[in-house]
Amino acid sequence: MKPAPFEYHAPTSLADAVTLLARLENEGCDAKILAGGQSLMPMLAMRVARPDALVDLRQVPGLDHIRLQDGRIAIGAMASKRAAELSELVRERQPLFHAATRLVGHQQIRNRGSVGGSFAHADPASEYPAVALVLDMEMVATGPDGERVIPAAEFFVTYMTTALEPGEVLTEVRMPVLPPGTGWAIREITRRSGDLALAGVALTLRLKAGRCADARIAAFGIDATAVRLSEAEDALRGAVPTTESFARAGAVAAASLADPMSCIHASAEYRRHLVGTLLERALADAAARAH
Ligand SMILES: Cc1cc2nc3c(=O)[nH]c(=O)nc-3n(C[C@H](O)[C@H](O)[C@H](O)COP(=O)(O)OP(=O)(O)OC[C@H]3O[C@@H](n4cnc5c(N)ncnc54)[C@H](O)[C@@H]3O)c2cc1C
Repeated sequence: MKPAPFEYHAPTSLADAVTLLARLENEGCDAKILAGGQSLMPMLAMRVARPDALVDLRQVPGLDHIRLQDGRIAIGAMASKRAAELSELVRERQPLFHAATRLVGHQQIRNRGSVGGSFAHADPASEYPAVALVLDMEMVATGPDGERVIPAAEFFVTYMTTALEPGEVLTEVRMPVLPPGTGWAIREITRRSGDLALAGVALTLRLKAGRCADARIAAFGIDATAVRLSEAEDALRGAVPTTESFARAGAVAAASLADPMSCIHASAEYRRHLVGTLLERALADAAARAH
């Protein structure tokens, strides 16, 4: 299999990339941004995507930072997942994002695949969108009109579709550091190690005076985008963190899923079951970390 013909552009500054994307858009040319190519290249090869032009960001400087900025962690869109995995800042200050990164594909995929590429690609089975909802992350988009910040809750629109406008480049993602004493967990079921998840859950859990004060939970692999499990969050508020209350939250979460995806690998009912069980186990992980 080989891709359909396309023009190839490799701008050397963000300003040039944005100008180029705007020009191609005006000319009616369907242009796609190329980052690490770990999703886009297979899609081109299988001709699932047939853009007229590729705008490669790999020579654009200034998009691969990982730093503490105004008390939040800012990661440039072109930082590789491997760089995020190896970052002491991410590992120590945002362990949920760190753990999610280690679940993405294999090391070879993480060497090449960019952090921003996973957010822009918005695969419903990807770990990052769920973590973005849990952490209330912000996405920074740069386009012809400048920069805008999009909250995670508005960024993921539907299946592989984000709030990025044509011609906008995702340039940075921002996340809070995990407050001390906050528990976190991410669990998923995959057919093989490194595969995209059949279903998964990510969460943070805060305990106060021996009770669950606040939980933020999202599931992935079950709908067109990652989804917050707000009914389970409500069921946990004020509950004593026990095996029973975690099992109850899992049951509430499973029952709250309107219409889970179904495919040859996992039926809707199996996915519903997975979310309940994964949540129950992930809550126990998070409670142990919160203590
Ligand atoms: C074997 C295998 C296993 C995998 N397993 C997982 C997994 O478990 N979990 C998971 O989440 N992913 C998984 N992936 C996908 C992988 O994580 C990709 O790296 C990621 O989806 C895309 O990042 P990329 O930098 O390679 O982007 P690309 O493939 O280059 O681009 C992906 C899409 O995002 C757009 N895009 C990229 N960067 C930007 C930007 N800065 N601004 C605007 N648009 C942009 C592109 O135009 C394209 O539409 C797997 C891939 C493979 C091949």
